Amino acid sequence: MPAFFQKKIDRRSRTAMVAFLTGHFCYDTMRSWNRTSSYAHCIKLHCLGLTSKQSDNAFDMLDTDFWDEIREPIDDFTVSQDSRYTIGINGRSGGYLVLYESRRELTGHLSYCPTCGQRNFTKVPPTFEDANEQVIAREILGSQNAWHPGIYLTQASIAALPLAGDEKLALITRIKSQLANCSGSAACGVCRNPRRNFTVPPSKLSVYPGKGIDQGESFDGEEWSMVSLRDRVDLVCAFDAACDAIRNNFLALLEDYRVVEVTEYRPVQVKQLVAA
Ligand SMILES: [Zn+2]
Repeated sequence: MPAFFQKKIDRRSRTAMVAFLTGHFCYDTMRSWNRTSSYAHCIKLHCLGLTSKQSDNAFDMLDTDFWDEIREPIDDFTVSQDSRYTIGINGRSGGYLVLYESRRELTGHLSYCPTCGQRNFTKVPPTFEDANEQVIAREILGSQNAWHPGIYLTQASIAALPLAGDEKLALITRIKSQLANCSGSAACGVCRNPRRNFTVPPSKLSVYPGKGIDQGESFDGEEWSMVSLRDRVDLVCAFDAACDAIRNNFLALLEDYRVVEVTEYRPVQVKQLVAA
């Protein structure tokens, strides 16, 4: 597929790179009154370079929910940028693809329920083999790990353990740290089935729509070395390529699908008489 949004830039020429960046189309990152803007492309139908036959199909397509079919290049782009940048849609009726700053943030969940999918901000407590450790762990979990080690020493069940005082104190200190952020049991708060700890803590993409990118930038400051200019050109070219990939997906959709009208029947609740 020929490039539509992408341009070839001479990365040896400062003038060419600055001309590309300052001449690139920009659009608001939020509402126009927030006055922040970033690199963008218009994806309204009349801006996509469609043939008249494609345009007819495309207008029919607007009544369907096709965005999920063509948006995948956004995820690829975000991954390729280590989640520091992503692409969003802005404008009335979503007429613009806009480059946004973003970041991966931990959700803070430490465990999940494989049965119902519920996530939990505490960990499943480890199991202890040793009988003395089990007694200490039970006391610590029963008190939400809230006390100083010395206080646990005075609990009747721990006082009765056949160990020397300093041994107990060392055990209490170790088990307290092993049980940090753990809930009292492994049970899911919703369905009571056992939870599991995440091996990789889950994260989500946070987008910063209030941050414009290179708004009003003239690229003549000291921070714009040839290296940083090239990095910026690479970023914007990758954005352009992703927008092309989305447009290509849309063109393929126009080629491969047509819109038909179907009647859907849905169940309704009615009251009926039945013999008593
Ligand atoms: Zn559950």
